[in-house]
Amino acid sequence: MIERTLVLLKPDAVQRCIAGEILTRFERAGLKIVGLKMVWIDKDFSKEHYAAHVDKAFYKGLEEFITLGPVIAICYEGVSAVEVVRKIVGPTEPKTAPPGTIRGDYAHHSYHFTDKKGKAIRNLIHASGNPEEAKVEVALWFKETDLHTYGTVHDGHVL
Ligand code: AMP
Repeated sequence: MIERTLVLLKPDAVQRCIAGEILTRFERAGLKIVGLKMVWIDKDFSKEHYAAHVDKAFYKGLEEFITLGPVIAICYEGVSAVEVVRKIVGPTEPKTAPPGTIRGDYAHHSYHFTDKKGKAIRNLIHASGNPEEAKVEVALWFKETDLHTYGTVHDGHVL
């Protein structure tokens, strides 16, 4: 039940200088950072990370977006962390993401607009889709020695 999941703060989040506010959202929910780093990925790494999307029409724009500046990669740990993180992040399209979610509160881009422009939707965050995907993605972004086991004040209440 204790899971690890990958979160990426995409270049729009980093360049809009809202990384701290976003990290606070996860921190408030009691999720534990077990790994964190800033990386400027290249196109090859993008193809590995987005292997499921490489053949899709939107991939070209997605690759341009994810490689345009550094991202902040975080491995979070917690009870059902994959599902909880995706709840906090909200649905993929900011326009339809409800208020209270990160995408709903900090962005508003729509597929209708980005499809016409041939741009990737600016949705601030990537979050692993399910526990199997999370295992693959955490291993792609972090070496085991970069992930840390330690206690937080939440552990005494939650575990
Ligand atoms: P996902 O793996 O489902 O998180 O999707 C990865 C990223 O691909 C999303 O965060 C969007 O940036 C982009 N994406 C997914 N689906 C679409 C779509 N239908 N149109 C445009 N971009 C998309």
